Amino acid sequence: MAHSKDKSGKELSPQTKVLHLGREPDAQHGFVNTPVYRGSTVLFPTLDLLKSRKQAYTYGRRATPTTEALERAITDLEGGASTILTSSGLGAVSTALLAFVQSGDNILVTDSVYQPTRTFCDKMLARLGVETTYYDPTIGDGIAKLIKPNTRLIFAESPGSQTFEMQDIPGIAKVARAKNLWLLADNTWASPLLCQPLALGCDVSVQAATKYIVGHADAMLGAVTANARASKYIDNAKEALGTCPGSEETYLGTRGLRTLDVRLQRHMASALAIARWLEDRPEIERVIHPGLPSHPGHAIWKRDFAGASGLFAAILKPVSQPTLAAFLDHLKLFGMGYSWGGYESLVIPFDPSSYRTATKWTDAGTALRFHIGLDAVDDLIADLSAGFERMQNV
Ligand SMILES: *Cc1c(COP(=O)(O)O)cnc(C)c1O
Repeated sequence: MAHSKDKSGKELSPQTKVLHLGREPDAQHGFVNTPVYRGSTVLFPTLDLLKSRKQAYTYGRRATPTTEALERAITDLEGGASTILTSSGLGAVSTALLAFVQSGDNILVTDSVYQPTRTFCDKMLARLGVETTYYDPTIGDGIAKLIKPNTRLIFAESPGSQTFEMQDIPGIAKVARAKNLWLLADNTWASPLLCQPLALGCDVSVQAATKYIVGHADAMLGAVTANARASKYIDNAKEALGTCPGSEETYLGTRGLRTLDVRLQRHMASALAIARWLEDRPEIERVIHPGLPSHPGHAIWKRDFAGASGLFAAILKPVSQPTLAAFLDHLKLFGMGYSWGGYESLVIPFDPSSYRTATKWTDAGTALRFHIGLDAVDDLIADLSAGFERMQNV
């Protein structure tokens, strides 16, 4: 693939690759970036070519130079065989699952999974005759005991994007391989720069590119990357379902990639600094960040990840609703809202006890999910300090 190796054939480092993958200035009159190709119809010059379809592009839904640039870049970074793009991260999850299941199947899904993924399984897949069994995210190779004759696949998300349990993906992968099951992972928290699920034994890695790849909270986008064994399944699902993102969104994904490494480095450093600061605050019961030694999955994180992103959780000691509102309502730099992965800082309360089925959530205090943006850490800490002060004065 273009620009993933240097002239001597040595693999370039990911920090360099994100700048070069999916770009061919020579093919674009020297312009640095692959532009936004808008288009549905692609013309065929001869009847021969129309019938054989043996030309690079045949229809806008299938591929354009804009979508191919991003697909190839993500394939390279994830270490896969191919990637399909979707119009959202949830579209990537649902397309990936639909690619493999059929009526009568059972699937194993982590109890820590992104909630809309859960809804897709419980509503849509259930209606199609696919049964979902949720498993304890820390089950590791103990997952073997949940496998039934009709189990088709295992879906992992490590860390879970609200509660941040680390999963032993290599342990699960060993079982999946022995039992001939597909193993899919939602890799959104880490992005392909901080974790490569395929190298850990997964067949498919899913990205909500909306988050860190786009990185600026200005587009919805998803990606599904498969290894060679799984590739034709996701390609077929793309053909059958007609998943394709808009051209502008795709371009924003490629543009986001260029700065992904520097952004993640800042997200990581700032989030760790703030997580450590929160650990010492009297208002906080516990901080849940896999990069902290206090996290039960810290060793797995160290083993399988090249770093941490900006998203983690903290549990407040129990407080009243007005006290919580005093903290959240007047923050100046942290916004309250869904999604994450952009340059801005966010905080949102959540309640895992409302949706868990395989495991119990026992914390009594309110859980807060923080996304630490690119702001200066001191400014963010001052904003949070002022919030804690307001709590005292309710
Ligand atoms: C946000 C998110 C998704 C869905 O992405 P959208 O682009 O919002 O549809 C999927 N998985 C995880 C872990 C997410 O955080």
